[in-house]
Amino acid sequence: MPPRLPNPGRQGAALGALLAVSLVLSGVGSPHPAWADAPGWRFPTAGLPQVLRGFAPPRYDWLPGHRGVDLALVAGQAVRAAADGTVTFAGPVAGQEVITVSHGELRSTYEPVEPAVAVGDKVGAGDVLGWLEPLTGHCGRTCLHWGVLRGETYLDPLSLVDLGPPILLPLGPPVLTAWPVQPVPWLLRPAGGQP
Ligand SMILES: [Zn+2]
Repeated sequence: MPPRLPNPGRQGAALGALLAVSLVLSGVGSPHPAWADAPGWRFPTAGLPQVLRGFAPPRYDWLPGHRGVDLALVAGQAVRAAADGTVTFAGPVAGQEVITVSHGELRSTYEPVEPAVAVGDKVGAGDVLGWLEPLTGHCGRTCLHWGVLRGETYLDPLSLVDLGPPILLPLGPPVLTAWPVQPVPWLLRPAGGQP
């Protein structure tokens, strides 16, 4: 009998986290990367934001895709560092204000954000980087585009943060087969409905 989840709204996040953890622990996929253990990552907002559009990287660099996640914020809302680091860029790119923070092996980017920081500033996780600028057309409403890179490779920022209260479930491949068949294909589609 499958374990019960607290509510349907958490089910996708919980199953996604479970799937990721289970795959890692079962040795499926690439070797466990060091950054997956990066401590202290958090959403660049106060509290858990609504994710308007998920990570949907293109198959090839030259193809369109979504190299980050879009979070629902309101104009003027504080945007915060997702982890400890050093500001390595703060200024306009193609007419849009962008902030980049280096965290050693990883970098995080935030846009469109009016900077409250300058290049070289040390920031801690949760420190205010700036304030969200109004609608730019990226989301159809005001939003924060949050990206994470390792070298030139974009990562899913949601893979680095706690998506909510932990739900204790058994880990490993048997769990995947214990779930009803229906939710699993839904999990395999990127959030936001992108193919
Ligand atoms: Zn975006």
